[in-house]
Amino acid sequence: MCGIVGYVGNGNASDFLIDGLRRLEYRGYDSAGIAVYDHGEIKIEKKQGRLVNLENVLKDHPLSGHIGIGHTRWATHGKPSDVNAHPHGDCHNHFVIVHNGIIENYMTLKKDLMAKGHVFKSETDTEIVAHVLEEVDDGDFLSTVQKMLTIIEGSYSLVILDAAHPDTIICTKKNNPLIIGLGKGENFIASDIPAVINHTRDIYILQDEELAIVTKGSVQLLDRDGNPIHKEIQKVTWSAAAAEKGGYPHFMLKEIFEQPKAVHDTVAIHLNKDGSVNFDDLGWTKECFEGITNILITACGTAYHAGLVAKHYIERFVKIPVSVEIASEYRYSKPLTSEHTLCIVVSQSGETIDTLEALKEAKRHGARSLAVTNSIGSSIAREADHVVYTLAGPEIAVASTKAYTTQLVALLLLALYMSQLKNSISADLIQKITEGLKDLPKQIEKVLGEKDHMSDVADRLIKAHDIFYLGRSIDYAIAMEGALKLKEVSYIHAESYAAGELKHGTLALITQETPVIAVATQDNVSSKMYSNIQEVKARGAEVLGIGYDDDEEIGKYTTETVRIPRVDPFIAPILSVIPMQLLAYYTSIKRGNDVDKPRNLAKSVTVE
Ligand code: GLU
Repeated sequence: MCGIVGYVGNGNASDFLIDGLRRLEYRGYDSAGIAVYDHGEIKIEKKQGRLVNLENVLKDHPLSGHIGIGHTRWATHGKPSDVNAHPHGDCHNHFVIVHNGIIENYMTLKKDLMAKGHVFKSETDTEIVAHVLEEVDDGDFLSTVQKMLTIIEGSYSLVILDAAHPDTIICTKKNNPLIIGLGKGENFIASDIPAVINHTRDIYILQDEELAIVTKGSVQLLDRDGNPIHKEIQKVTWSAAAAEKGGYPHFMLKEIFEQPKAVHDTVAIHLNKDGSVNFDDLGWTKECFEGITNILITACGTAYHAGLVAKHYIERFVKIPVSVEIASEYRYSKPLTSEHTLCIVVSQSGETIDTLEALKEAKRHGARSLAVTNSIGSSIAREADHVVYTLAGPEIAVASTKAYTTQLVALLLLALYMSQLKNSISADLIQKITEGLKDLPKQIEKVLGEKDHMSDVADRLIKAHDIFYLGRSIDYAIAMEGALKLKEVSYIHAESYAAGELKHGTLALITQETPVIAVATQDNVSSKMYSNIQEVKARGAEVLGIGYDDDEEIGKYTTETVRIPRVDPFIAPILSVIPMQLLAYYTSIKRGNDVDKPRNLAKSVTVE
């Protein structure tokens, strides 16, 4: 969470900082600020609210200089306000910092430092870091930072300015992301690649507790003990346009429409010509599964919902029991995970702290591990024994769409691959599904053609207070994702329910005022689903059905039906979620919401 940027070079630091923050605003947006070394001192401007508020302040109070840092905040400690916005300085703005994460021992440190005379301006945990630096300052920038790091506890990406060294930025990270972009006569720091991509494609990805000393002409990398380290330069391969809106009014809509390509790319790298599945990079053999008695999938939010679908895939194909756990619950659950467990974690950003910690917990219990993520070199990718990358490209809208569908694709392929190794299902079934996956981008295009239809349906949802999403089997997992999408961006309460469970109490909530979205793609339970649709219809609910184009039955029971092409039921979820994404998008914009940056949320959740 939160966007961090830093610049040192010959250019005007403010220009890069503001542009970089704009590209990272999806990571946090309750306030923004920059600090620039300007005419012999570090000057700070910061403002509550969106970045545009800060830009307006800077029109009257421009900061000019060649070195600076910036931040868009997602508050954890202290309400969003001008004074709590980053950057934060010590008593004299000698050390000025931006921070992503949580300083866990800040209360104790604050008490001690106040007793020593330090005066705090904000309610944040972050400000403590600047005062600790001031307290331990020995005149040597690096050694002062190193001392500070032995005192603070918690998680952080930190980017630090020192007024006594106005040509240098020092940065470091632990459990939060930070990258360094390498320019010519200038260098950039950011919490994510989109901030630097217009300036350079050469980056270093910092690992936990590494330090970087950055000047305009050099980047020195050090390990936690201060020893120089060598790191390969990573090349960013995706285009700057991939991180721009490209003619769409919002990133969410653009990303929904990028799903054919994202799915194609994710499928293509794992298919052999003969229709078999290829994850040979994993180095797995049949023997790898000997001794694996259970699979644990752990993740958060949308990725958790992808895990719920994957449970069906793996149990059906690989025939190993799967449990799916919310990462923040799993961590503290005293789990029965063991060396007989394969732990699969799913995270778009690869930086989701709850998922990262759940992965570490599973490993502590001896589990083997695999990560499914969209971010090369991310913390989760590095922590897991094996990694499968989704090729969704950068996902900027806070509400996940293309990352989710590519997670489903990757998990389906992975389940097929495991079953191939274990010989647990026939090659014919594998081929049938992989053929279906090859066609999937075209089928997604067809479902995207329902755009205007979903926009019309959204007109009828915008006044609703509660909406129910129903499904059975895999469709229940998809209904959960549909409901989450709507809640995230429209702020309408939505509840997903296993359709057969409704009559055990919750049917009491269904009235004429409660629209219902009913997903019916799983043939083995479709007749049961039709009955459940009739039950809610009989209570006055308007029902939008999501069913196959050749399903003549469903339309008899629903108020209206949106059609997806007939595909294998295991592939259907990757199509049936799309109308729900579109519905959430249109409901949000018709209610006047900021669909890409929904209130209180942020991308890449790096706090617990
Ligand atoms: N904990 C810090 C704060 O509340 C940093 C939040 C962030 O990552 O944006 O200011």
